[in-house]
Amino acid sequence: MFASVACLVKAGDHVVASAAMFSSCHVVLTEILPKWGVTVELVKGNDSAVWAAALSKPTKVVFIESPSNPLMEIVDIRMVSDLAHKVGATVIVDNVMASPVLQKPLDLGADVVMYSATKHIDGQGRVLAGAVLGSFSYIHEHLIPFNRHTGPSLSPFNAWVLLKSLETMEMRVQRMCENAHAIAEFLETRKEIKSVKYPGLKSHPDYVTVQKQMTGGGSTIGIEFAGSQKDAFAFMDALRIIDISNNLGDSKSLITHPASTTHRRLAPDVQAEMGITPSVLRLSVGLEHVDDLIKDLTQAFKS
Ligand SMILES: *Cc1c(COP(=O)(O)O)cnc(C)c1O
Repeated sequence: MFASVACLVKAGDHVVASAAMFSSCHVVLTEILPKWGVTVELVKGNDSAVWAAALSKPTKVVFIESPSNPLMEIVDIRMVSDLAHKVGATVIVDNVMASPVLQKPLDLGADVVMYSATKHIDGQGRVLAGAVLGSFSYIHEHLIPFNRHTGPSLSPFNAWVLLKSLETMEMRVQRMCENAHAIAEFLETRKEIKSVKYPGLKSHPDYVTVQKQMTGGGSTIGIEFAGSQKDAFAFMDALRIIDISNNLGDSKSLITHPASTTHRRLAPDVQAEMGITPSVLRLSVGLEHVDDLIKDLTQAFKS
């Protein structure tokens, strides 16, 4: 993610990004780039008027994470890309949560797509990797020269692992997505849950945009527990099939507590703005039989 943005910007340039995002991306945009004279504005991702106002000024890069990690907020990629191109900005989409299977940002008007290949592309928690896709000129005039001199480099063995995984990615993601959809519907019926954030549900506030740009709701569900952090932790500890881990897009179902793990680096007010309360959990649904997963969740709610 860092390379995809840093290879384009210089001191004095302006970046606009949707506010809800993975915490390391937030640190890159709000702490690292400003040290080098890049200005950054974060906007509410699903508000077209806010994007129009932000993109009325000269802008070098627009960065979008949609759906966002962990609460699955949605940005209309076509709408933002059209506005961004009018001011000459390059649109970069972090497409990790949707995966390449369920959303194709380049077809929706974006210029660059980036992945943590650690997630669905690997799919079994074996390697850390990333992938950046864009036009020939972006890759050859910007990204490769930047990477060559600054270090990011995948080992041949890890690249081989990912190439093997790509052979099965489509089937894995479709199945995870079916499982996640069934589990999201199940969670909506439980009194222990205050809200379920899943792009495949009609209750999602941006369901209309989801229908326009995704072919499925994804494998990840944002959950707000009705109880306290203590209740949420007791629930996680009682799960037997679903493991506690902060990876996602994995063949195994994994649950995590973003406020103390993936997003702990963010200040409490930034967490609050993103809706990441101490009662929020993120469930990444894997390839187990969906009935086993629902049984596991049911027994953990009971206990
Ligand atoms: C995990 C994640 C990243 C970072 O990926 P790493 O492979 O852990 O460096 C970036 N964006 C999103 C949305 C993620 O979920």
